[in-house]
Order: sequence, then structure tokens, then C-alpha cells
Amino acid sequence: MLIILGGTFDPPHNGHLQIAEHLWQTFNHQITFMPTGIPPYKAQPQVSNQQRLAMLNLAIADYGDRFTIDETEINQAEYCYTYKTLRQLRQKIGFATPIYFVIGSDSLISFDSWDNWQEILDYCSLIVVSRAHYDKTKMSSTLQQFVATRSINNIAEFKHHALGKICQLDFSPCDVSSTTIRQRLQQKLSCDNLLPPRVYEYIVNHGLYTPITATNT
Ligand code: ATP
Repeated sequence: MLIILGGTFDPPHNGHLQIAEHLWQTFNHQITFMPTGIPPYKAQPQVSNQQRLAMLNLAIADYGDRFTIDETEINQAEYCYTYKTLRQLRQKIGFATPIYFVIGSDSLISFDSWDNWQEILDYCSLIVVSRAHYDKTKMSSTLQQFVATRSINNIAEFKHHALGKICQLDFSPCDVSSTTIRQRLQQKLSCDNLLPPRVYEYIVNHGLYTPITATNT
């Protein structure tokens, strides 16, 4: 089994860690963070790949081998498309091992804007965690139907499938985003409780996102 949490991690935050912790508890299996290189669907990261990777390593440092990092995408020079990454992974490991790709419900709502989105389910199953303020009824009718025909919300049953299914977990991590954190840093507001302390320290020490001189709320 492979459980992959893809993301920009610009920067990695407590929401990401809560997702990974919950998945580890639910599946009792190692969680792989897969930082994207050049994301095709959103603004380019504000810091270098090396800095994002350093922050991610600091974020998971206390979790031993429960969490790991796959550097495939972040080392790629061209745009990273999930369908391509997963297709390459299947070419490497075959189709027997279940691959679970984890997304928030905000990503599910816009999933049909991802390149070759339907092909993605030929390679993996999706695990969806709830994200505050995102209304799942906002999906296009095509996507709603696609999700409905593939949904299995019973974990035991879901685990029988190596690919092609969608499991929506009744779990909502804390209401935080990398965007909010970047904005708060620019406004010199505190990010305590939003970021793992070591990541926060790294950001301050390296003057990332903004020259930080104060951390008042
Ligand atoms: P940004 O604000 O820059 O878009 P982000 O906070 O969404 O970043 P990403 O690294 O892009 O962080 O997220 C990776 C994955 O984790 C995405 O599928 C996203 O939906 C999910 N995710 C991130 N934060 C949360 C959260 N607080 N609740 C639920 N899902 C989340």
C-alpha cells in the first residue's frame, strides 16, 4: 500500500500534519509526502524547492518512519501533472499494490480541472479529507456523477481496491492554509499553532515570505 499526500507545502503546516496523523491512525501505514515541483494549477512557490524540502523535512522530523518524503516531483524540471507521476509509478511498481492519493475537499471540487483527471483513477484511489468552507455540492454534475459511482466510504471495503475508488473521510483538519500563513507572515502576525515550531523557526531564520521583525497577534 502507498498513501501519498501531494501538495505544494509552501509552507507545510499543521493541517498537513493532522491529515497525515489521521491517515496513519486509520490505515496504520506509512504516509508519503510528495511535494510538487512546478505546480500547473496554482501560483509558483515563493521559496526555492530546496527550502520547501528543508521545511518538509523539519515538519516530519518527529515522526520517525511513520512519515516519509518522495522527491520525484520536486526534482522534476517541467510541470508536474498528477496523472503522469502516477502513471510512471504504476509502470515501476505494477498494478497490484494499492495507491491512495490524498486530497482535501477543496481539491475534489476542482478535480475535473486537473489534466487527464479521469485517468488518475486508473492508477490510484482517492482519499478525501474535509476542508472547512468548501461545499461539495459545488462540483460540476459530471464530477458529481464520477464521484458517486466510485465512492466507498467504508474503510474496510475501500481497502480491497488497489485503484479506481474514492473514500471521503469524516475528518476535518484545522482550518489553516499555506496562503493564510504566507499572508500572516507578510503582515507580521504570529503563526503559532498554525505551523510546526521547527518550520516556523526555519522561516524566521531564513527570512522567508517576508522580513519578519515581530510576531505579534
Ligand atoms: P495554498 O493555500 O498555497 O493553496 P494549501 O494549504 O492548500 O496551500 P497544499 O500543499 O496545496 O496546501 O495542500 C496539499 C493537499 O492538502 C491539498 O489536497 C489540500 O486540499 C489539502 N489540505 C491542505 N490543508 C488542508 C486543510 N487545512 N484541510 C483539509 N485539506 C487540506
